[in-house]
Amino acid sequence: MLGLPAFLFLLLLLCRQREPSLLNFPPPLPALYDLWETRVFGVYLLWFFVQALFYLLPIGKVVEGTPLTDGRRLKYRLNGFYAFLLTSAAVGACLFWGVELYYVYRHFLQLALAALVFSVGLSVYLYVRALRVPRAELAPASSGNAIYDFYIGRELNPRIGTFDLKYFCELRPGLIGWVVINLVMLLAEMKLQNRATPSLAMVLVNSFQLLYVVDALWNEEAVLTTMDIIHDGFGFMLAFGDLVWVPFIYSFQAFYLVHHPNEVSWLAASLIVAVKLCGYVIFRCANAQKNAFRKNPTDPRLAHLKTIHTSTGKSLLVSGWWGLVRHPNYLGDLIMALAWSLPCGFNHILPYFYVIYFTALLVHREARDERQCRRKYGAAWAEYCRRVPYRIVPGVY
Ligand code: NDP
Repeated sequence: MLGLPAFLFLLLLLCRQREPSLLNFPPPLPALYDLWETRVFGVYLLWFFVQALFYLLPIGKVVEGTPLTDGRRLKYRLNGFYAFLLTSAAVGACLFWGVELYYVYRHFLQLALAALVFSVGLSVYLYVRALRVPRAELAPASSGNAIYDFYIGRELNPRIGTFDLKYFCELRPGLIGWVVINLVMLLAEMKLQNRATPSLAMVLVNSFQLLYVVDALWNEEAVLTTMDIIHDGFGFMLAFGDLVWVPFIYSFQAFYLVHHPNEVSWLAASLIVAVKLCGYVIFRCANAQKNAFRKNPTDPRLAHLKTIHTSTGKSLLVSGWWGLVRHPNYLGDLIMALAWSLPCGFNHILPYFYVIYFTALLVHREARDERQCRRKYGAAWAEYCRRVPYRIVPGVY
């Protein structure tokens, strides 16, 4: 919890350097008072509360989440995609009326600090309110250890009235913020490199990541069956991850390109697009197949797939995408991550940070999920592992 924010700022400072190398390490550190500006914090709050307002709009379908331990099912409104459209319209209006989006670029570090301060404040609030909730509302991941619970989150579904704090933070302020930051980087590149149009590398990075975010918001319902929603509480891990790490680290390739231009040929661009599409098809089809199966195991479109019955009453897919490896969706996600870095060229390892970090995250996440599934499904899971021996990469891992 102390290391991650420090590491985030180190990465951002390195990325701003003209020549980020071991010989130039550490990068010049800004004075602490240069990093804080109350006005920037106000801008961050404005962003967060406008997104909250969009979430409250009575548009979009209301669906039920997975059953809780007491059998209840919480209701969730699916309007993330509308929030994205409204944000796009607002950003479009800003561009039309000449509002300087460059402000975001100039105050990038200060914005990151504002988001960090907000996420820490939110984590404290979440921990304190969770001290009073009944046992049944604690997250399966919570342990009773104060420090661990502050990190992983004690309460599973903290809500203020019908406003679900975790569900809201999962996809909106951070994910939509990431796309806006990418656009700001594209404009900053044109301004600082005196370009009439953005570079092909920047266009590739922006389009790939835009597709990823739009896909997540379009398929918003799928987030209701993820570990984040059904297992982990809402604490520092998700508050920091969703509100700081995602927008400020996932936009890293675009930030890198502002200071380190890289010309990509059309041939290289076509190959990179092919890598991205390959990853996207695996990612989307695997997730769609599992979601459709979990929603309706007797769906006639899935009748051709082989399954293993488990003692819980649920079955496991053992052919199709889920017969290739035990986490085909992670494989697709990793291939896409590589495609996001390739447009930045091979001069530096910095733009590859995301692939390296994401590999570590997904390997660890896969192990956590595997442990839970073994506990849940026992012999049926062992049989699944026997029939589908590889975890993420066929024949390798
Ligand atoms: P999954 O969507 O893979 O969900 C895992 C669950 O799926 C298991 O707990 C089990 O739950 C069910 N399952 C596992 N195997 C089978 C099977 N053979 N048949 C049917 N059901 C099965 O995990 P995540 O929540 O980790 O990931 C969701 C998506 O989000 C992924 O595409 C991932 O790549 C992405 N992601 C992206 C991140 C990012 O930062 N960009 C971070 C984390 C995830 P049950 O049986 O109870 O239904």
